[in-house]
Amino acid sequence: MKDKFNRNINYLRISVTDRCNLRCVYCMPAEGVVPISHTEILSFDEIMDVVRKAVSDGVNKIRITGGEPLVRKNIVELVRMIAELEGVTDLGMTTNGILLPKYANELKKAGLQRVNISLDTTDPIRYKEITRLGDIDLVYKGIDAARNAGLQPIKINCVIKESALEPDAQLVAEYCKQNNLEIRYIREMDLENGRFWKVQGGDGGDCKTCNRLRLTSKGMIKPCLFSDLEYSVRALGATSALETALNEKPKRGTISRKNNFSGVGG
Ligand code: SF4
Repeated sequence: MKDKFNRNINYLRISVTDRCNLRCVYCMPAEGVVPISHTEILSFDEIMDVVRKAVSDGVNKIRITGGEPLVRKNIVELVRMIAELEGVTDLGMTTNGILLPKYANELKKAGLQRVNISLDTTDPIRYKEITRLGDIDLVYKGIDAARNAGLQPIKINCVIKESALEPDAQLVAEYCKQNNLEIRYIREMDLENGRFWKVQGGDGGDCKTCNRLRLTSKGMIKPCLFSDLEYSVRALGATSALETALNEKPKRGTISRKNNFSGVGG
């Protein structure tokens, strides 16, 4: 499907939860965010209504995000439901990797193809500082579990302040080189002030060729991360919410006061 700027929109990012088992300093306050109540979170059937409609309109690339998607109960079942849908040719997940040792094999069997795993440093002390809760050894075990399960490619999402030359980023780059992993550098974004950059090593953040819509865990279709436009699946229905979001997709991002990364999934 094409938006009014003739961009090919074939990518749906689905945030399945706002909850997370980490508290990364650039994403959440230390105390976390007030979790969305279970009644507000879309059920798998509601998510599938949106996915079916989106795929019938030309979406073929799906990414599952969060919060941390692997904390959502029965997440493997949702992966299976999406993977079984004809037309989905690219099914990926963005995760902090902590729970991958538990789920990697099941996710692969259910049809997940690839993963992006967050790693902003290889210094265990810095990792604890950045994530506030994390144990870096679990991420390494998660990367190994993904590799052993055959999830491919495995890409490493490395959040940087300004430059890939920062010491933490250099450590991650060296780790990726030694372990034959692709690295993507994501500059810290500022939703309220509209500060964002193209992802280095990826295709996010380039408004001219933007190909995505987002579904939040609360059931909002968002045409753009850096905009407060959103259309409720529960109020409008999947078809109307998707079509309105497509038609209202802005030429480029500006600012967002409503969004937060844990609720929208970056
Ligand atoms: S700011 Fe909006 S239009 Fe630009 S790349 Fe991000 S989602 Fe697409």
